[in-house]
Amino acid sequence: MRAVLADIAIPRYLYTAAAQKLPRGRGKSAGWSSGGIMRMLHDEPTPRLPSAPGWVRLRPELSLICGSDVGLVHAKISPVLSAYYPETKQIPGHEFVAVVDEVGPGVSRVTEGDRVAVDIVMSCAQRGFDPPCRSCASGRPNVCERFDQPGVTGCAAVSLGFCRAHGGGFAEYAVAHESQLYPIGDLPSARAALTEPASIGLHSVLHWSGKGERAVIIGPGAIGLLTTAALRRLYPELNISVVSPGEFGSEWARKVGADRVLPAGPAAVTTLAEHDGGRLLHPTATPGSPSIPILEQGVDLVIDTIGAPETIDISLHMVRPKGMVVLAGAAGEQKMNWSMVWKREITVQGTTDAGPEPALGGRHTYEQVLEWLADPSYPVDGMVTHTYELGDWKRAFQTASNGPAAQAVRVGLRPNPDLALVS
Ligand SMILES: [Zn+2]
Ligand SMILES: [Zn+2]
Repeated sequence: MRAVLADIAIPRYLYTAAAQKLPRGRGKSAGWSSGGIMRMLHDEPTPRLPSAPGWVRLRPELSLICGSDVGLVHAKISPVLSAYYPETKQIPGHEFVAVVDEVGPGVSRVTEGDRVAVDIVMSCAQRGFDPPCRSCASGRPNVCERFDQPGVTGCAAVSLGFCRAHGGGFAEYAVAHESQLYPIGDLPSARAALTEPASIGLHSVLHWSGKGERAVIIGPGAIGLLTTAALRRLYPELNISVVSPGEFGSEWARKVGADRVLPAGPAAVTTLAEHDGGRLLHPTATPGSPSIPILEQGVDLVIDTIGAPETIDISLHMVRPKGMVVLAGAAGEQKMNWSMVWKREITVQGTTDAGPEPALGGRHTYEQVLEWLADPSYPVDGMVTHTYELGDWKRAFQTASNGPAAQAVRVGLRPNPDLALVS
């Protein structure tokens, strides 16, 4: 089969990483040039079903390029997380809608020809571990303690889209366990493909108690927009601001339910004070760097979907004492000053993959998100701004890398062009 391969062998990684530092962005395409991290394979073996009950082969219909895929192709990966994503050869693509191609023994939830959204996480249940680990036993398979152990799956990674044996969204085939599949009927492809990133958005929101009047989302990318949409759906009265550096993202933020847009950087804090009141405190001892003012009477919740030291710092300066900062959708090494966490007793909540949600009575994030995506008034139409056939993957990655400059939110790939997109 045809498949895009991410090869994180050290020479390829070093070549791609070094190229990113060339002046005027001249090395930005290194990740998909020869010698770079990603390349197209034309004769990759079709993935086999693991020899255990309940496995299904899928043909991806529409797969989206995630910010993490863009990070990967530019050699921006977290060294620590390689413990959970150890495979040096991976077939990426973890946000996709697919058609069931073949069902193995013991499958009852789907049949051939069904269109499905795919929950990518493989926990003790899919890996065949019994008894399950503590996380799985307590209904938290999204933070399973055996993500590094393949079990019956043959996949040494948290999820589909980060190993080779299972194929992936950027390949003609992928395999998944039936428990990972959510039949979607005739839900439009471009909405269904958003299930995974929308679930990240909803899951990040559900960490919050819901007590408060004001929330700020940092970042108008797909995760920030889908987080905003989830927050708006759950809390119609909440005052929601989105920090957006450009007009393209700002327009999208308003479309998905933001009341207002804030400029990036320290101006986000001062603009909040201008709009809503609240005193600004100015640190006097911050040599070498301009200080960010601290907003007394800050907001109740900040969800940072960028996760850069600068944006986390802004988050900590605008949240109220005892407030919550959720770090969503990004991970990496951070060198920054966490003093505000101590002084204002801020809760910093990391968030990761979706799963059964205690806040929804144990319902899976996907079930809630799919209900919303099936509602035409859920404002995500047009979020898949570009679609390319798999053979055009380099152009797709180029577009995704350019982001707002290319008017791109999510860029889609069609691994199987004979599968018509549902509109
Ligand atoms: Zn993703
Ligand atoms: Zn587990």
